[in-house]
Amino acid sequence: MPLQIITVPCLSDNYAYILRETNSGKVAVVDVPEARPIIGALKDLEWPLDQILITHHHHDHIGGLEELRTATGAKVYGAAADKHRLPVLDFELSEGDSFKLGNETCEVMDVSGHTIGHIAYLFNDAGAVFSADSLMALGCGRVFEGDFPMMWETMLKFKALHDDTLVYSGHEYTMTNAKFALTIEPDNTDLQIRIKDIESKRANDTPTVPASIGLEEATNPFMRADLPEVKALMSMQGASDADVFGAIRKRKDNF
Ligand code: ZN
Ligand code: FE
Repeated sequence: MPLQIITVPCLSDNYAYILRETNSGKVAVVDVPEARPIIGALKDLEWPLDQILITHHHHDHIGGLEELRTATGAKVYGAAADKHRLPVLDFELSEGDSFKLGNETCEVMDVSGHTIGHIAYLFNDAGAVFSADSLMALGCGRVFEGDFPMMWETMLKFKALHDDTLVYSGHEYTMTNAKFALTIEPDNTDLQIRIKDIESKRANDTPTVPASIGLEEATNPFMRADLPEVKALMSMQGASDADVFGAIRKRKDNF
């Protein structure tokens, strides 16, 4: 594996990820909910930190940023669109930009909806995307700043990725998401099988992330708003994909 990925649980249900490009030894972290667990993990691994990659401005993703920056001297990357409400950025990113972590190329995706200016970090060759609060395991983030058509556009961007790309999202919300998904598609056998796997992972306190794009497309109701069978289950046969997505999102907000 040219990209090693370490999952670091933070706060009550956040995940940060430490990435190491093995040929160069360059190391990055995606999001900093709090500094201590990340500094501790880096110390145990004996990995010096080069890059801090920020997905969006919410406090549970940047709360430990300044402490980590001070402790490591790493360079901070984040969305140009978010610069007015993020700590000082060394690199301001927009959709279509790319940069290197050692020999691996990282592409920047604009995945707005949860917030405006939320970005995801795609390592296409390594088959990994860091999506934080946009696409989540069996779910998606609440649409706080964008609107439903915008968040549906974001879902379409994820659907366009290779099926075997692994999605590293920002929270362990999967069990609640699973219960909700079953209310939308109780007879989806892929979903039923996935939920058994989720239950055994949680029983062992194992993270349920990452999961593949292909599995999300088969089981995540927010990725499936364009399917005739899902529209029928929502009694929205004639509605647009974005409207069906919005109706599912609204139901989840009240779940
Ligand atoms: Zn958030
Ligand atoms: Fe969050």
